[in-house]
Amino acid sequence: MTYREDVEGLDASILMHPRVWQASGHVENFTDPMIDCKQCKARYRLDTLGEQINDKKRKKAVMALLENEELKTKIDKITADIEDNGEKFEALLEDEVVSEALLKELSCPNCGTKGEFTPPRSFNLMFKTFLGPVDKEGNVIYLRPETAQGIFVNFLNVQGASRQKLPFGIAQIGKAFRNEINTKNFLFRTREFEQMEMQFFVKPEDDKKWYDHWKELRLEWYNNLGMTPEKLRYHDHPADKLAHYAKEAVDIEYEFPFGWGEIEGIHNRTDFDLGRHQEYSGKSQKYFDEESKEKFVPFIIETSAGASRSFMAFLVDAYREEEVKGETRTVLGLHPKLAPIKAAIFPLVNKDGMPELARKIEADLRPYLRVFFDDKGAVGRRYRRMDEAGTPFCITVDTQSLEDNTVTVRERDSMNQERINADNLLIYLLEKLR
Ligand code: ATP
Repeated sequence: MTYREDVEGLDASILMHPRVWQASGHVENFTDPMIDCKQCKARYRLDTLGEQINDKKRKKAVMALLENEELKTKIDKITADIEDNGEKFEALLEDEVVSEALLKELSCPNCGTKGEFTPPRSFNLMFKTFLGPVDKEGNVIYLRPETAQGIFVNFLNVQGASRQKLPFGIAQIGKAFRNEINTKNFLFRTREFEQMEMQFFVKPEDDKKWYDHWKELRLEWYNNLGMTPEKLRYHDHPADKLAHYAKEAVDIEYEFPFGWGEIEGIHNRTDFDLGRHQEYSGKSQKYFDEESKEKFVPFIIETSAGASRSFMAFLVDAYREEEVKGETRTVLGLHPKLAPIKAAIFPLVNKDGMPELARKIEADLRPYLRVFFDDKGAVGRRYRRMDEAGTPFCITVDTQSLEDNTVTVRERDSMNQERINADNLLIYLLEKLR
């Protein structure tokens, strides 16, 4: 956040007034359709059932319905403009008659029983708790299901304190909680996760320009941090599938080992959110434009990323095993900016003053960089351990170091080594990590 003068940071509350979630539409709309297998009681999110059975079965189910002329016409109509298989399935499920017929054709992924599901029920994903000592309905509050609303309700607070002018953004990293029906795929879908969201406030007439700008910039962000470009793609939301608050929306997707999945959404949220908070709080959310002397509710372009989910994408993307001199080397090829340890420091052997010099180097670097001291085992094994942890640089203190104060710096990916004067290490590393 310090990179941009037009974006301020915020750490808003996790528990907010319940009216915030009425205004945002979450109390009413933040639901998933849930079904249970009557036989084994396994519970599913209806729209993900298509993912859980293999493609062949899904196609077979749709084909079976095509023999029913009335349903065939309906299905043709629903799917006319939809290319992608997964989306087709979701669109079909939105129609009650088709969904009921389809459910009869699908089998439970757990016990295999065919067509024995309860009708879909709406399930609100917000975790509820109570404010104060009495557990009564009027005291219900929610754990935030997204960080964004904390930004909206603090918009004028931040704007006034920071004296920012449009266009500008407010960004926040923090925990979000969703009572997901099924958690799966490690960090991909959890009930407690980390989000990093930014809301960029613009003049209504500039919305398209800024939406396109952030769409491009956010994809670049993943590329610049070393993610494989072929494993990233945009998925534009078709106009008739947009969320209730969005005028335009796109997902950035990553190709995980289990298939393509959203890691970030970019949305043109118009003046919906500030408009709703204005309505529900009775407090004006208008911005005063000094140049034009006009007062208006700004439009918002949102970039909404999962920090934990995209971290998993970075992990998956970085992991590799390769042959080096007949041995398998495991490397976490993380971009140096993402590597948890920036440099490791090794005394070649534990004698002759090498540990002391290595400890001194560690102490000099530690205030600026996360470093790690390791004197256990052969130096080759220490390199391998650091390769696995993704550490981009390993510094070794050897006999020559004691004579001329130089050390070797070994780079993780190329495995090349350079001799550097120990006094210049900090500058050298900071340059490389930039
Ligand atoms: P999905 O369709 O996968 O449930 P979503 O469209 O509901 O995701 P958003 O509400 O747009 O997701 O949330 C923004 C980002 O937060 C997502 O792109 C994702 O990276 C992350 N995210 C959402 N839900 C979860 C979760 N249960 N676990 C981990 N990350 C999540």
